[in-house]
Amino acid sequence: MLPRETLIIGAGFAGSVVARELADAGRKVLVIDRRPHIGGNAHDEIDARGVLIHPYGPHIFHTNSQRVFHWLSRFTAWRPYEHRVRSVVGGVAYPFPINRTTLNMLYGLQLDEAGAAAFFERVREIRDPVRSSEDVVLSSVGRDLYEKFFLHYTRKQWGLDPAELKAGVAARIPVRSNDDDRYFTDTWQVMPREGFAAMFANVLDHPNIQVELGVDFLDMRRRGADRGFAHTVFTGPIDAWFGHCHGRLPYRSLRFEHQHLPDVARFQETGTWNYPNDHAFTRITEFKHLTGQQHTGTSIVREYPQAEGDPYYPIPRADNEALYRRYQEMAERETAVTFVGRLAQYRYYNMDQVVGAALAAASHLLR
Ligand code: FAD
Ligand code: UDP
Repeated sequence: MLPRETLIIGAGFAGSVVARELADAGRKVLVIDRRPHIGGNAHDEIDARGVLIHPYGPHIFHTNSQRVFHWLSRFTAWRPYEHRVRSVVGGVAYPFPINRTTLNMLYGLQLDEAGAAAFFERVREIRDPVRSSEDVVLSSVGRDLYEKFFLHYTRKQWGLDPAELKAGVAARIPVRSNDDDRYFTDTWQVMPREGFAAMFANVLDHPNIQVELGVDFLDMRRRGADRGFAHTVFTGPIDAWFGHCHGRLPYRSLRFEHQHLPDVARFQETGTWNYPNDHAFTRITEFKHLTGQQHTGTSIVREYPQAEGDPYYPIPRADNEALYRRYQEMAERETAVTFVGRLAQYRYYNMDQVVGAALAAASHLLR
């Protein structure tokens, strides 16, 4: 057994990146996760029919941070991949985010780029200040496009109206006057060539890192087995750490319905198709687009939003953030514990942002 200095709870991006940084600096680290695998929600695996899938929903890596990209590049080779999404409205699949082609198809127009910009200018409803996700969308594309593409998707995804969510949620989606139909425009849009699980195995493969899976920290704490570490890094839900003493922080969950289609080489034209107005699921993703895998069949996933279940999304609303701040104040008083990651910081972080936050947390710890 290694002499262990730091306990890290959670083997997702947050926990794994901190673990590696500390290990490289000579610290002995124990990483635990209650799940039977490393990688957190970004975990991937081969399904029963031999297709590489993401059990916790589609994960597409994109970043503008050279530092994050270079850090991860130590642990994986990459495959270029630009994600494309269609949104099915009235039975027709339109490019999404809304761009010039979307407008021309939907309204039977032949706008050029300047014409599309003028169209948005004409239909937008100016909102001042822009506080909610409804404000964001109405002030950029107006009511008709809002109702067709955003309102019902958001109600399904969050169980809330866009007016009840902070601006940052819908602001994730750009609006374009040109023909660019990529979901992201980041400098680096790549997928780990051997998959996320292989990348995480490399991150955690270090003589100073020990990993124990199927271990729940809360059980460990009850047994007193968490004592004796100089420092602890927690990447789970912050309210769970404090026994929900101020009340539960709301998280949105999902149910994933995975399906394999034998002898279907291609199910849909692009990686993800959104269904804003029909069905109980929000979107269908076909993994072979993301991974580039060749296979005679294909595997897809439908995402059904729900209130109960594993916490996947913090819910960006002012009252939730006020509740989070009460936990954050307690967290700041815990000098021997660092809270980092999407659930521990209650932030709607993408993977690259979690890596950035974890690198910052590790360098703070090492100072
Ligand atoms: P997690 O990955 O949640 O890791 C936390 C770990 O802590 C978990 O493994 C959990 O089991 C463990 N844990 C919690 N509590 C305990 C405990 N008490 N004891 C032991 N272990 C515990 N980001 C992108 O950049 N691109 C995408 O395309 C993308 N798609 C997404 C799709 C979906 C459906 C979801 C839900 C998220 C998506 N994300 C995407 C976001 C991405 O998943 C997160 O930013 C990232 O994985 C968060 O890493 P983390 O380490 O903070 O948290
Ligand atoms: N959204 C929408 N219609 C869509 C896609 C997204 O209204 O077709 C809104 C919705 O509120 C969603 C948010 O934009 O939660 C962010 O979408 P994104 O695809 O970034 O969500 P994620 O991949 O994180 O689930």
